[in-house]
Amino acid sequence: MTYLTVGKRLLWKMERLHRCISMTKVERWLGNKLRHCCKKEMEKTNMHHPGLTGLQNLSNTCYMNAVLQCLSSLPPFMELFLSGKGSTALQKGNDEFATVFGHLMSEMRLGKRDMISPEAFHSVFVRRHPSFCTSTQHDAQEFLICVLDELHKDFKESSQRRNKTGAEARGNVSDTSIITDLFEGQLSYNITCLRCKTTTARPESFTVLSLPIPSRTKCSLQDCLKCFFRQDTLTQNNQIYCSWCGTNQDATVKAIVTTTPEIIIFHLKRFAWQDWGRKKLSTTVCYPLSNLDLSPYSNMSSSSNAQYSLRAVVNHAGRLDYGHYTALCKHSDHWHRFDDTEVTRIPDSSVQTDTAYLLFYTCQGH
Ligand SMILES: [Zn+2]
Repeated sequence: MTYLTVGKRLLWKMERLHRCISMTKVERWLGNKLRHCCKKEMEKTNMHHPGLTGLQNLSNTCYMNAVLQCLSSLPPFMELFLSGKGSTALQKGNDEFATVFGHLMSEMRLGKRDMISPEAFHSVFVRRHPSFCTSTQHDAQEFLICVLDELHKDFKESSQRRNKTGAEARGNVSDTSIITDLFEGQLSYNITCLRCKTTTARPESFTVLSLPIPSRTKCSLQDCLKCFFRQDTLTQNNQIYCSWCGTNQDATVKAIVTTTPEIIIFHLKRFAWQDWGRKKLSTTVCYPLSNLDLSPYSNMSSSSNAQYSLRAVVNHAGRLDYGHYTALCKHSDHWHRFDDTEVTRIPDSSVQTDTAYLLFYTCQGH
C-alpha cells in the first residue's frame, strides 16, 4: 500500500468522523498523521532519482539485467543515448538493435518507474543470438561482448553509409565506431626469438580484458594484472616460427597496453579449467574504487590517461552452472545494488565483494 492510499483512506475517515461529531482531538491526530504520510510520500519521490530502475527477470535473465545496469551507469557511454548523439549517429536501416537498446537505456535513466521489463530488447537480442534463447543461465561476459559487438556493428554501418562516397573514394573504410572509440583498447604482444633476439610486435585490440586469478584464496586486481602482463617463455610445443631464423624457436612474449580505452572492463576468470573440468574460483579479488593505475602496463609516456575509477561491478554468486548475477553501480556519487527489480543503496564499504566477476572502470583523465 502506498502512502498516498493511506493518506486518502485517512481523509475519508476524517470526513466520516466529521459528519458524526466534532472531534477536535481525533481531527488533530488524523491531520498530523496525514501530513506525516504526505511528507513520507514526497521523500519517497525525491529518493527515486533517475537511473535507479529495476529490471524484471524474464526467467533466468539475471545475467542480462546485471550487465544492462552496469552499462547504464557508465557516464561517457550513457551520454551517447541520452544526449541524442547516438540517434544522430544512427541512420534508418539495419539499426534495430542499437535503437531498441537506446530506448531501454533512456527508460532506465530518465523513466520515473521503479522497475521496467527489458522484454523488447531481449527479443531483438535473442533473434540475433539464438544461443541465448534458452532459459538456462548464461554467462554475463559472453552476453556483454555480444551486446557491444551488435552496437558496434549498427553504429559502424550507419557511419559507413553516411561516409560511403568519401571513404570508398579514398579506398579506406573505417572499422571503428562510437562504441570502439569508448571501449576498445590496443595491446601489443612483443615476441622475442631467443636465438636471434629479434623482436616482433603483434597488435591486438580488446574490449574486455580477461584476467587470470593467480591465487585460490585472496589476491588483488594488481596481482591479476601483473600475471596477465608478465613475460612468458614459449618452449617445446609452444615455440613460435621466427621468420629471421626460418625455423620454430624458443621465444619470450610480453603484452603491453599501447592504447588505453576510456572505459576498461576486466573479466576475472573465475570459471577456469582445472584438473578434471571447469571449476569456479571463489578467490577474493581486492580492487580499488579509484586511482587504478594502468601506466605500469602501458608504453605511454603520460600516465594521465591511465588512471581509472570503478563505476560498476557484476557479481556472480553461487556455483558454476547454478548461480545468480547482481550488479553494483555508482549513480550520482552513491553506490546501489541492483538485484533484478530490487534496488538498494549501499555504503562504499560494501562495493568490495567476494563474488565480483566483471569490473567496469572509467578513465579519470577524460
Ligand atoms: Zn630468430
